[in-house]
Amino acid sequence: MSGARLVLATHNPHKVGELRAILAAAGLPTEGVVGAADVGAEPPVEDGVTFAENALLKARALAAATGLPAVADDSGLAVDVLGGAPGIFSARWAGGHGDDAANLRLLLDQLADVRAEHRGAQFVCAAALVTPDGAEHVETGIMRGQLTTAPRGDGGFGYDPILEPDEQPSRATRTLTSAELTPEEKNAISHRGRAFRALAPQIAAVLRP
Ligand code: IMP
Repeated sequence: MSGARLVLATHNPHKVGELRAILAAAGLPTEGVVGAADVGAEPPVEDGVTFAENALLKARALAAATGLPAVADDSGLAVDVLGGAPGIFSARWAGGHGDDAANLRLLLDQLADVRAEHRGAQFVCAAALVTPDGAEHVETGIMRGQLTTAPRGDGGFGYDPILEPDEQPSRATRTLTSAELTPEEKNAISHRGRAFRALAPQIAAVLRP
């Protein structure tokens, strides 16, 4: 694709939009940012056992396939009382990949008897940049909070309706779940926002001529 300077390892147009917004908010030019689908790249098998390994292997594969600097992220929900699970298995906790409603229901059932003071959890995101010369950078961001006993809110995706972030917007008159935040409010405190803002200086070096 002519003019492409950076390729993102996701086939989800929503995620490309979200990452562009985060990069734009960090003051970076986003015209040269394209998604993996735009360059016809197939995703690799995600066989890493940490968020950072999976983010790196996706970025490495895409940089090798395209000859462009590549950015990938890997994320999930780590529940304290489950020792960090679902973790890297967050998207397929109930079996099928990406069945958000089933994943959330199973997790709430598993935690049914866990009292409020033991319902701490965090979203985790590792963001990786790999350049065709082989240079690699990884940054991790977290968003800590408490799990509810029932879903609330229509925004976001995945486990957003059951996590009340510790950092709440000043407008809140009661504790909001991540699914009750605006996209801007979520980006400002989210694991993904933090990981990508931490990676922004390295991304800037490949986006700015
Ligand atoms: P992936 O990084 O796109 O593979 O996402 C892994 C899974 O983690 C998603 O399918 C969601 O279940 C969960 N997850 C990651 N980030 C978030 C988030 O910001 N909100 C809610 N769920 C998330």
